[in-house]
Amino acid sequence: MTQRPNALSWSARGTHLHLLRHADDLRAAGFLIKLVAPTSFRYSGVAVSTSTGALPENYGLIDVSALARNHAVDHIAERMVDVDRDARVVITAESQRIPYDILSLNLGSQASSESIDVAPEVTRIKPLDELATLTNRLDRARMITIVGGGPTAMELAGNLSASTGRTVRVVEAGPRLASALPPKASAAIAKLLAKRGVEVILNSHVAALDADQVTTTDGSTYLHDLAVLATGLTASPAPAGLGGPHGIPVRGTLQHRDDDDIYACGDVADFLPGALPKLGVYGVRQGPVLLRNLVARAVGEPHEPFEPQRSALQVIDLGATLGLAVRGRWWWLGRAPLHLKRRIDARWLARVESRGVPSDPRSTQ
Ligand SMILES: Cc1cc2nc3c(=O)[nH]c(=O)nc-3n(C[C@H](O)[C@H](O)[C@H](O)COP(=O)(O)OP(=O)(O)OC[C@H]3O[C@@H](n4cnc5c(N)ncnc54)[C@H](O)[C@@H]3O)c2cc1C
Repeated sequence: MTQRPNALSWSARGTHLHLLRHADDLRAAGFLIKLVAPTSFRYSGVAVSTSTGALPENYGLIDVSALARNHAVDHIAERMVDVDRDARVVITAESQRIPYDILSLNLGSQASSESIDVAPEVTRIKPLDELATLTNRLDRARMITIVGGGPTAMELAGNLSASTGRTVRVVEAGPRLASALPPKASAAIAKLLAKRGVEVILNSHVAALDADQVTTTDGSTYLHDLAVLATGLTASPAPAGLGGPHGIPVRGTLQHRDDDDIYACGDVADFLPGALPKLGVYGVRQGPVLLRNLVARAVGEPHEPFEPQRSALQVIDLGATLGLAVRGRWWWLGRAPLHLKRRIDARWLARVESRGVPSDPRSTQ
């Protein structure tokens, strides 16, 4: 079998971690692997806890270069900025041109700010390096506004209101918090946050979010010292010509709708058989399917489709030792869910070899 250059962009949380850990299988199938990715990666499962001080700052920070080295993968420690499909090259920020026969894109997502005018000083929940800067800004913040009322906003509000000395405000466009959760679960979160003094403003669309105030479309303004944009996630921008309105369109096999040689996975992929929530679990489960499909194509066998699970367990860290576990209509608020989350996260991080940080988190339990 001929050796082929195969440029991969990175996600440690998701699908490409699996490819990296099975680099030997890919090499045995004849692939030469090139990984285009920044030198480190933050694991989102602990991102709120680390950025709000509940866990050590660098817990969940993965050393991508070391990981690539350990798996004998050629790592180009740069960001990809474009793909030239005619020449079949990936172009990096420093203008390196990396040839490929097969390209897999795992570019993740970013905070969505649709129709909101957001000032540069405002912290966004993603990229996670930006969320990590929150730790340094908390000392001086007495009034914090969180825009959005989804699970990440609930984690932020829960953790930030768990310690005294500051007031947290949540501004949500819809009629209730955490609207994707069963109504009684979101009511339980609302009750908990109210007990901790969180100010919740519902049915309010934010028009502008500035360093010192938030303005809603009805003209109301609320002052703050610090603001966080947590209005959900949207696919990262795709290289020119590869993306659609919801990310990179892929078939069930994870191949691009119009190009058999390009794969996309995780949050950046617009999974055409059915839209998937922007949750790490889907990317993680795409890993083995992507690996089998790459190996299958090397030996001329057919691809298999990715079949997403109907619902996934989600645990929301609400701070002060409490978590809310939810799966479909089932939910549970208490200490055990957070304990379970800490164990799942620690186990996942421990599995990632050579991540360059201690594997034992300071538990909030
Ligand atoms: C605060 C927060 C908490 C979350 N908690 C959970 C949780 O507990 N459980 C859960 O299931 N989901 C959680 N999520 C959602 C989860 O983060 C995403 O669904 C998941 O990370 C998607 O994985 P991914 O591999 O697609 O992308 P990502 O994890 O976003 O990784 C994409 C990677 O690609 C790299 N990249 C991007 N662009 C380029 C480029 N041009 N060139 C090279 N590399 C590039 C990025 O640096 C990044 O390392 C959370 C999200 C946030 C924001």
